[in-house]
Amino acid sequence: MGTDLIELKGVGPALVSKLQKLKIYSQYDLLFLLPIRYEDKTCLQKISALVLGEKALIQGTIVLTTVVYRGRRMLISQLSDDTGIITLRMFHFSKQQVKQLAKNTLVRCFGQTRKTTSGLEMIHPEYQIIDPENPRPLETGLTPIYPSTEGLQQGRLRKIIRAALSQQIDSIPELLPHSIVKELGLVPLTESLLEIHQPSQKNIGNEHKNLFRQRLIIEELLANQLALKRLKRRTKKEPAMALGNPLFKESLITALPFKLTKSQSRVVGEIEEDLKKNQPMMRLLQGDVGSGKTIVAALAMLIAVGSKQQAALMAPTELLAEQHFDNLVSWFEPLGVSVALLKSKLSAKDRREVFTGVAEGSIDIIVGTHALFQPNVVYKRLALVIVDEQHRFGVEQRLSLMKKSRDRNSVPHQLIMTATPIPRTLAMTAYGDLDASIIDELPKGRGGIETIIVPEEKRDQVMEKIVKECARGRQSYWVCPLIEESEELNFQAAESTYVLLQETLQQLNIGLVHGKLSSVKKIKAMENFKNGNTNVLVATTVIEVGVDVTNSSVMVIENAERLGLTQLHQLRGRIGRGKHKSLCILIYKKPLSLIAKERLAVIRATNDGFVIAEKDLQLRGPGELLGTRQKGLIGLRIADIMRDAYLLPVINKLTVDIEENYPDVIEKIVRRWVGDQLEYRNV
Ligand code: ADP
Ligand code: MG
Repeated sequence: MGTDLIELKGVGPALVSKLQKLKIYSQYDLLFLLPIRYEDKTCLQKISALVLGEKALIQGTIVLTTVVYRGRRMLISQLSDDTGIITLRMFHFSKQQVKQLAKNTLVRCFGQTRKTTSGLEMIHPEYQIIDPENPRPLETGLTPIYPSTEGLQQGRLRKIIRAALSQQIDSIPELLPHSIVKELGLVPLTESLLEIHQPSQKNIGNEHKNLFRQRLIIEELLANQLALKRLKRRTKKEPAMALGNPLFKESLITALPFKLTKSQSRVVGEIEEDLKKNQPMMRLLQGDVGSGKTIVAALAMLIAVGSKQQAALMAPTELLAEQHFDNLVSWFEPLGVSVALLKSKLSAKDRREVFTGVAEGSIDIIVGTHALFQPNVVYKRLALVIVDEQHRFGVEQRLSLMKKSRDRNSVPHQLIMTATPIPRTLAMTAYGDLDASIIDELPKGRGGIETIIVPEEKRDQVMEKIVKECARGRQSYWVCPLIEESEELNFQAAESTYVLLQETLQQLNIGLVHGKLSSVKKIKAMENFKNGNTNVLVATTVIEVGVDVTNSSVMVIENAERLGLTQLHQLRGRIGRGKHKSLCILIYKKPLSLIAKERLAVIRATNDGFVIAEKDLQLRGPGELLGTRQKGLIGLRIADIMRDAYLLPVINKLTVDIEENYPDVIEKIVRRWVGDQLEYRNV
């Protein structure tokens, strides 16, 4: 049997290309697509015994199905078992579904229980119609949930992973040297993989310190270290263009309506030193949200322009790219420096113009998303690449931009900016290939943020507070954060909050933005908020990164107890940017675990990103599943640099050991875990 995907039962060419989006190219890769979490569908719960906020499997008959209009069309079904009634609510549905859920049909549902004024409900549950004569058997073990991509159902993915597992598990090579496996007492690789994909005991899957998971985490962190160290060594050997003319930079500093903070000046100095060298800069700029990284980026770009070179600024979303563009235009135009924005919604003519300008060199600065490194964007003389909010970008993207000026026998300097402070102890591991600069103060003259914590029963009071703030001309965010594995599934919470706020706060304009909306709608929603038409913007974590609306003074965060400290801090950083005093309201669900309590206390007590990052590290309990994971520069599959920090001393030692004594396995380990993210090295 071969290892090609196409040789697996049930896999055709269409599926192969979907899998490639997940960076899966062979059956072996499937084995290393590891579950993000597990769901328990092994037993049916009674409706009367459902726990609010938890996911559960229930079964009952449909009492009523109807399509209603409450601000928008929705499908409402009521399901009853012998203990109670629950409402199923769907905002996206087909005629077919309305028919399917006819009265008296037996239905099995899996979803999260919530409570509204009209009783219990599940929004967009997964459901199956059940034949009462011949009911489907329940799952016998925990159901793994895999990271997926659009149009690839979990069920399908599970099936092919199971098939790959049974075909390949016996031939998957153990790459770690035998002596190391023995010394560290590691579980064999095959055993670990089997346990992770098909946990033999209930709940074992969610425990990060269990030996099976730990075994894989160690191997992944090791691969990550080996790859980053090698990357740094190799990049530093490449030639880069020395950039030294500070003229434009000085002009902008003089023209700014504010004075740079001490930190900003220091960091600009550090960057300037790097750029003078004919060795590529590889610098990470850490600075809390609102600390003023954009102006630092602008000044760096002006040094490149001063030396008659081009610079590119890459943002994680189109929204942010536009925001940067607006800022840069206002700063650069008076200097005669030309800036272009590459966005998806350009007319063919405008697009051609941008491409030509970049290729001929009439455009000095280009701003955009990852579209900047498409093969059809050809640069005349790209000498500096700046990546904003690195955690949405992989090493891979950075590398493909680097290749852009390869024909000139030099690679661009790189500046990576992040608002996620990483404790110093971890920086090496997270960003092993980068030198670090830190902006550790905020500009003066901000109104400050007060943070309060309220239980969800008091949501009414929160709404009153918002009405008051809006009456004073302020605006508010209402965030329903990402607690599912994908934005795809998470829009539900935002949708229902949107409906609730629209119904309750009729005097206000409520906006909505989430990942399921088209990008046109997203941009429209953000524009309306930016120019003040919308009073309250309901959002998922789409707004997490970089959005700058200085008039917004209230941030409500739902499910705060389920979020990590870093994420809470990031979200809160969206307010407190103007001169007004701001308020952050964290809504939680009882009962609070001890750790959650401590976390909320920390976030209330301090606004210092580095303090918060250190606390985050201390408070991460083993086995705790938080909303998002800290992935570092290379997307990690199973490890989490913060959570697994306790392993780092071992990993560091192991890295040296392998480099010195087993250089032959480096390539294989890196390929297995980091894959083609580092494929550039063969170029
Ligand atoms: P971030 O680091 O989160 O990207 P920004 O670059 O968006 O922060 O800056 C936040 C706001 O602070 C912007 O409106 C910017 O113009 C302003 N700002 C930046 N530096 C200073 C400064 N030294 N003094 C006053 N305001 C500043
Ligand atoms: Mg920013």
